[in-house]
Amino acid sequence: MRIGTGYDSHRLAEGRRFIIGGVEIPYEKGLLGHSDADVLCHAITDAIIGALGLGDIGTHFPDSDPKWKDAVSIELLKSIVDLAKMNGYFVAWIDSTIIAERPKLSPYIEKMKAALSRTGIPAGQINIKAKTNEGMGFIGRGEGVVVHAVCLLEKTEKER
Ligand code: MG
Repeated sequence: MRIGTGYDSHRLAEGRRFIIGGVEIPYEKGLLGHSDADVLCHAITDAIIGALGLGDIGTHFPDSDPKWKDAVSIELLKSIVDLAKMNGYFVAWIDSTIIAERPKLSPYIEKMKAALSRTGIPAGQINIKAKTNEGMGFIGRGEGVVVHAVCLLEKTEKER
């Protein structure tokens, strides 16, 4: 088996949609980025790439490439889940923590798991936690959102 960690952060800005874990959430601001800035998908994607030992999200989807402008991040995640399969691994477990002062995200967690399961990771193998930063720092001031994620990959073949 292999493990990987992922971290991502995105700034909150006016005039942007707030998309996280493949779910659009009503809020006065949204996440700013070259793609749709889905911070949860990016952290999970990086965790899987890390477990595969294949660099990072920027290696696979460089933000200097106009091809990835406004990219739907859950589709990028699906392509990395497929890449794991091609390398003989399946995603056995994802754990993640979203840190956001606002909006309140816990009501959307089941929706996010359902959306993420469309990448090929069963919803029962994904855990998502949501918390605030107790008002401290840039997260506490509502300037941005951070996600930490861990991935466990297991070999699809018999030999381990
Ligand atoms: Mg990102």
